[in-house]
Amino acid sequence: MKNLLQGIRKFPLLLLTFVFAGNTFLCSCNLLKPASPEAFIEEPAVEETEIEEIEEVVSEPEEVIEEPEEIVLTWRDQIPYEEITLDGEKDHHYVADDYCYIESEKYVVFLEKDIDIPGDFITNVDAIVDELETELNVSSAPSDYTYYDVCDMTAYYGFNPWKDINIGTKIPIFLIADEEDECLISCACGDFLVLVDYAMFSEDMWNSVPGYYDSDFRTRPEYVDYSTIAHEMTHTITERNHEMSMIMTEGIADYMSREILDALADEYPSIAEAKENTYLYDNSIPEKVNGKNAERIFIADYNEIDHAQRGAEYTFGRYLCQYLDETYGDNFYSDYNAEIKKDNIIYSYGNYDEEIITKYADALKEVFGEDVFSNFGSWCVKNNALQELGGVFPY
Ligand SMILES: [Zn+2]
Repeated sequence: MKNLLQGIRKFPLLLLTFVFAGNTFLCSCNLLKPASPEAFIEEPAVEETEIEEIEEVVSEPEEVIEEPEEIVLTWRDQIPYEEITLDGEKDHHYVADDYCYIESEKYVVFLEKDIDIPGDFITNVDAIVDELETELNVSSAPSDYTYYDVCDMTAYYGFNPWKDINIGTKIPIFLIADEEDECLISCACGDFLVLVDYAMFSEDMWNSVPGYYDSDFRTRPEYVDYSTIAHEMTHTITERNHEMSMIMTEGIADYMSREILDALADEYPSIAEAKENTYLYDNSIPEKVNGKNAERIFIADYNEIDHAQRGAEYTFGRYLCQYLDETYGDNFYSDYNAEIKKDNIIYSYGNYDEEIITKYADALKEVFGEDVFSNFGSWCVKNNALQELGGVFPY
């Protein structure tokens, strides 16, 4: 039985062989006769040709298998939502009717339904990130930062539309449409930016929420608040480089938001518009700053101020950054960052610890001199900075 089966199996192979080998039709006719299995076995010439044919057939699938291995799936393939692009025109708008995203070189913008984004948004944010890297003299994607998956957005959306996505070193920027009127605000950390900007709420959504359209104190602005975007983007970049005290964290963000708008306004009309409409002010401080108390205040980091009254750290920190920039030059931040990295100061923002904040003060003295605080305090008195108490003052 075994031999017979072998013979039958060979029949189509032989037929193929004769066709390919150019054998005469007669040979083929002979094969059509009923024959014993031995008849086929006694044809050695045919057997050789047959083996060659099989080898050729076997080699083909190997080439087919190699092709799929070249297809590399990326996070973009995991996203079930549309990628969109903008045309760069300030007066053109894209209104999202579902979750979608826009990718740029150093960040990815994630939109939700009812976000109204102007056509030049990416152009302006690209310019802000590049200018921040130049002025801070650090990368927005340092190699020693740990980059996790895009954070879980369930708290905002009720589910996580960007689940298990890892965009590498790019910064996730979430544009939030606060349609429940929960008074959501912009915020940032090393892992992401959340931007809540009334100018980017769609007109339809704005006109459907009484808390917005029926309010005496809320208006839907005509311009995007690039000042806040620069502030929050500074937080992301500086935190990716190294955590700092509260005064330095908010101070550098406040200072940079002004520096960036000044630097870019001439070239970018929408940033100029934001600059014209940004109200600059000094927050209230609990005591005037001078050469004797500047270091003590820096170390206390305004931690004793009630959260609702916060603001002094923004203003003290901004003036300190301005002083360092004017006195020591453009690399003041990167030089300080290098020192606190070298000292390996570990601090969790908001969890005040006098011993740790003292290390931040010591690092400042290490880089800019032992007298940096007394000189800064004297500079404040001379320039009438941080000398007004108990109010919010135009700057
Ligand atoms: Zn801030």
